Amino acid sequence: MELWFTEVYEGEGMDLKGTALKFKAKSAISAKTPFQEILLLDTVDFGKMLVLDGAVQTTERDEFIYHEMIVHPALFTLGRRPQNVLVIGGGDGGTVREVLKHDPQRVDMVEIDREVVEFAKRELPTISSSLSDERVNLTFEDGREFVKGKEGVYDVIIVDCSDPIGPSKVLYEEGFYRDAKRALKEDGIFVTQSESPFAQNRVHRKVVEELRKVFPVVRPYLAFIPTYPSGMWSFTIGSVNADPLAIEKEELKERYIELVKDKGELKYYNPDVHYGAFAIPNFVYREE
Ligand code: SAM
Repeated sequence: MELWFTEVYEGEGMDLKGTALKFKAKSAISAKTPFQEILLLDTVDFGKMLVLDGAVQTTERDEFIYHEMIVHPALFTLGRRPQNVLVIGGGDGGTVREVLKHDPQRVDMVEIDREVVEFAKRELPTISSSLSDERVNLTFEDGREFVKGKEGVYDVIIVDCSDPIGPSKVLYEEGFYRDAKRALKEDGIFVTQSESPFAQNRVHRKVVEELRKVFPVVRPYLAFIPTYPSGMWSFTIGSVNADPLAIEKEELKERYIELVKDKGELKYYNPDVHYGAFAIPNFVYREE
């Protein structure tokens, strides 16, 4: 016999079979693309929510956490104005919005599914509006193919992809990480979302393991994202020598104050969060 229990507050609930969440929605629209099924829910507690192939991608209420945390630790570690930044995936536009706060000369975004971008532009304007910035160049192609053969082009490469099933699978492979490393400048930084260390522990550990085969410096870090499985989420930075933990706190504070003076307050990331995010609880890498 299977037993399910869901504690429901206002418009969401935590399901204790697995770690899935339940959301109450007022309405829904959906579309089928050649790559995936898009669903947009108007939820009671989290505003509009983008779901791809059944997996929550982003919500209006908590998107700032994911998007600030996939971008700022790497961009602040770079320590200079970026010339070229590459975003792979990221069709909702939130990652590009945060990258632009660092005044890059150019942002390339390569998204496999044009329809996700069109959907986000129409339905999620607060997240997607930066996609029309003139420094942003959109290419609709597989990010795995896009990085092949590129050498020393990018200051930072950000992989904002979905779970390792469907079109995102190729973005979790060692061969892709090697090509991405080649596409980076010498002091460049790679960062990828690396799943939930609690709900998807094996996948998270595999990402870190594969990155360690390719990059001398590998730093996983955490953020709390309420609408993702278990709420405990991770990202992982890889580089040849740039180390997010080696920046002097005073220097980071100065850069941070400069950025918020010019671009407005951030809602999650700050210098204390920067260092704290790299503290990983014991269970994450404990052998099973
Ligand atoms: N924040 C999200 C998460 O962790 O669930 C990811 C959001 S973003 C919408 C993910 C995007 O990656 C999707 O729009 C999808 O189309 C895109 N994508 C998946 N595989 C890709 C690939 N191989 N190349 C480029 N984009 C890809």
